[in-house]
Amino acid sequence: MNINELMQQLGVAPATLQGGTLAVRSPIDGAQLACLREHSQAEIDAMIARAHTAFGQWRTVPAPRRGELVRLLGEELRANKDALGRLVSMEAGKILAEGQGEVQEMIDICDFAVGLSRQLYGLVIASERPGHRMMESWHPLGVVGVISAFNFPVAVWSWNTALALVCGDPVVWKPSEKTPLTALACQALFERALKRFGDAPDGLSQVIVGGRDAGVQLVDDPRVALVSATGSTRMGLEVGPRVAARFGRSLLELGGNNAIIVTPSADLDLATRAILFGAVGTAGQRCTTTRRLIVHTEVRDELVTRLKKAYASIRIGSPLAADTLLGPLIDRAAFDAMQGALERARAEGGKITGGERALAQEYPDGYYVTPALVEMATQSSTVHHETFAPILYVMAYTTLDEAVTMHNAVPQGLSSAIFTNDLREAEQFLSAAGSDCGIANVNIGTSGAEIGGAFGGEKETGGGRESGSDAWKAYMRRATNTINYSRALPLAQGIRFGDD
Ligand code: NAD
Repeated sequence: MNINELMQQLGVAPATLQGGTLAVRSPIDGAQLACLREHSQAEIDAMIARAHTAFGQWRTVPAPRRGELVRLLGEELRANKDALGRLVSMEAGKILAEGQGEVQEMIDICDFAVGLSRQLYGLVIASERPGHRMMESWHPLGVVGVISAFNFPVAVWSWNTALALVCGDPVVWKPSEKTPLTALACQALFERALKRFGDAPDGLSQVIVGGRDAGVQLVDDPRVALVSATGSTRMGLEVGPRVAARFGRSLLELGGNNAIIVTPSADLDLATRAILFGAVGTAGQRCTTTRRLIVHTEVRDELVTRLKKAYASIRIGSPLAADTLLGPLIDRAAFDAMQGALERARAEGGKITGGERALAQEYPDGYYVTPALVEMATQSSTVHHETFAPILYVMAYTTLDEAVTMHNAVPQGLSSAIFTNDLREAEQFLSAAGSDCGIANVNIGTSGAEIGGAFGGEKETGGGRESGSDAWKAYMRRATNTINYSRALPLAQGIRFGDD
């Protein structure tokens, strides 16, 4: 099926895909898929205004009824999982299984949000005053601006939108300029759900086609109550202070530099499989990709031997082919960044296996690589940086304290894991003195989180939490209410003021 047929099936008219200035290329072979018209400043301003007006109405709709819209969105996603997953593969270069997995994640968060729509609980708090009741109410916050990265082109929108909608907030979405087609398809599916829902205000979900400047406009607009931004630490460094300068709320999901510690008692079969998926899956272009391996000297040689064997058997090719495990990098810039990092690692003493360009004859404009394994004597400065490509740095350790120190020495704090069968080691890793990441796992890898937990990380990863657990609270405002049902007016802290 070609791109026009696929878009049509998902509800986007092919005529809207041409005639603009934003060229959208498939990482598979560099072919141009579309050339979209970018939204002007005035159009973006009008979208935000529409969302702001929609907020006034949507916040008064009972939350379980808002949940019904998300339930219908989940149904549209279920019905179109194959087509949308395939579009993710064509536009972002993920293998089909991962493209479909991303859509499954969208379905899962819709299910979660539907349940949540009946559980937006506040606390009832014991009042110190007689005849008084104290409680918390959670109210809709306002317009949510979503800025997303190319590598999870649809799931990040759904994590935010499913929650925002049940919380009473409209969404204006600025997807990555590298993946706007999947965003248009999501919007078309949303509109189908909206039609079945009936009486929703206009402007509950809108998509901006544009680049960095369009994102900046969302960031600076005071009508956008929450800016939920997913992308590089560089982007977060620009977005965070700008939103703070207008006292807006931001939710930042930025870069990771995730490690797995492998101890002498680890099940090496399990560890090898988890490392392979974590380091090579999505061509190393997940925020949770395993980038560092910190392995005990006793098992280092055996694990590296196993990994080299597993790496050599990885099938590289078009992500649309059923047996491919490693698809392309997003573009030439990603390939250049990978080669630059490998050169620096080599200069710092790294011993590199793999990391070369692959399939260049077949796909002169597609950037495929063999995954790189880099054995380092120390955790040098290159290892401290996130390079968005399949590079795994391997370092050795002798004591767990040393391993944890090395683990926490990088500026990012997203995902982490330990492979061990020793209870003490596992608990130490999960303790307050262990991993400093937002996600810490035992005997599973760093990538592939479930939607039920809160997702996000510390330090340069930005501190935001999305998806499950109580992440919904970021999309609402909290009011503390005290109700006096007595005939007196006692003041808190026993203060007497003008009475005897
Ligand atoms: P990127 O930072 O280049 O772009 C992300 C988005 O930000 C794009 O939509 C872009 O247009 C926009 N943008 C860029 N500068 C902006 C600015 N100053 N103001 C407003 N918007 C701006 O990231 P990318 O290359 O698309 O994605 C890869 C990065 O995203 C990696 O660092 C990865 O770790 C990170 N990521 C993090 C998570 C997470 O949940 N922590 C998830 C996915 C990706």
